[in-house]
Amino acid sequence: MKFISTRGQTEPHSFTQALAVGLAPDGGLFLPEHLPDIAPRLGGWGNLSYADLCTEFLAIFATDIPDEVLNRIVHRSYAHFTHPQIAPLQSLDVRTSVLELFHGPTLAFKDFALQLLGNLYEYQGGLSGRSINVLGATSGDTGAAAIHGLLGKPRSAVFMLYPEGRISPLQERQMTCTGADNIHALAIDGSFDDAQRIIKSIFNDHTFSQRHRLSAVNSINLVRVLAQCVYYLYAWLQLSVTDRRRVEFVVPTGNFGNIFAGWLLAEMGVPILGFKLATNQNDILHRLFTTGEYRIGTVQPSLAPSMDIQVASNFERFLYYQLGGDTTQVRQVMHTLQTTGTYQFAHFDHSTLSTSRATDADITSNLRRVYETYGYIIDPHTACAFQDLHPDRLSIILATAHPAKFPAAIGAAIKQEPTHAALEDLKLRLVVKHRLPADEAAIKAFIAARAV
Ligand SMILES: *Cc1c(COP(=O)(O)O)cnc(C)c1O
Repeated sequence: MKFISTRGQTEPHSFTQALAVGLAPDGGLFLPEHLPDIAPRLGGWGNLSYADLCTEFLAIFATDIPDEVLNRIVHRSYAHFTHPQIAPLQSLDVRTSVLELFHGPTLAFKDFALQLLGNLYEYQGGLSGRSINVLGATSGDTGAAAIHGLLGKPRSAVFMLYPEGRISPLQERQMTCTGADNIHALAIDGSFDDAQRIIKSIFNDHTFSQRHRLSAVNSINLVRVLAQCVYYLYAWLQLSVTDRRRVEFVVPTGNFGNIFAGWLLAEMGVPILGFKLATNQNDILHRLFTTGEYRIGTVQPSLAPSMDIQVASNFERFLYYQLGGDTTQVRQVMHTLQTTGTYQFAHFDHSTLSTSRATDADITSNLRRVYETYGYIIDPHTACAFQDLHPDRLSIILATAHPAKFPAAIGAAIKQEPTHAALEDLKLRLVVKHRLPADEAAIKAFIAARAV
């Protein structure tokens, strides 16, 4: 299968080519050239293990990776998840279930894609003999998951920038207590935006970024989206025939990455009734779906920090399908958005998608209510999804992080702080981080000295 760009000015790429470049050269995002119809295969997939299902699904797209190699890479990617079902479905009551996506190495759903991405990079590096230096900026979960995807791998190094003092102590420990020589956690004296700006500027220095074979990890890589389709499929396959007809997936959303994966799976012929996009107080997507207007504002820090986002980068993929695959129009809309920060859609067809919005007060009260009703502790991101659930549907709520990652917010709501053995272990380990000024030259010098 080939992959095309949402902006229509890139030659079709193979799976491994699209994986390697991430962003399409014309500035767009990769999508499959055509969407496969997987409906005829669903009957045979019901009893597969998570890793076997993932292999079967990805094989449809990764046609330039030999089957046995793909199988090995996928199995290795989910071997470090601590729950035997990888993505267990917990029933709370007849109308509410939780899909736990936090049993990976960094206890957030980003492990599903980034463990796989790390192993795929390793495979490519093995074929080409070339090394890779991953450069990124993080405000928390993505950085930790990317680091654990490449931990100790040959021919690879990770340089992860984060704002000193502005991420949670546990998130910092996940990045700085790895003990691996190829991981470099750079604590910048500045904000997340400063870190992000420096990264962009380093990638724009093509001579430097090519010399050191720099690569970005962010939510735009198509492989991340495809890896995330699998847990929706896995959950759906476990439902009874009746429940399959009434299920709505409810997804805490910032970048539109996670929910887009579910929506795309449905477009491939899996009959899912609906998806609910749950935002926090940074509600740009909620406003878009209720008014048709996309208006970029300023980020308001919330109790669910991994969703504190205004520009939802994966939205462009959804837009491509909204516009019937008209890449000229995609370019026009993206240009307008980038230059004016706003766009008003005349027709916005989203019959399978609904939205909700949760303030910090809602997050706290949802956390408390879920704990009091079911004795079940959710994290603040997952708490956004417990807002205004549909009365007649079966809601499957995607739990995107383990509650122990956010002890302060939970302690304030239910007067107890959840723990996790992996995080307790981190507290005993040595922190290794590099304090650097928010200065491009200083960061380039650091990278140049340590790139592999
Ligand atoms: C990244 C993240 C989200 C948001 O996911 P998107 O793909 O950006 O929509 C939600 N919850 C947690 C815990 C996250 O780490």
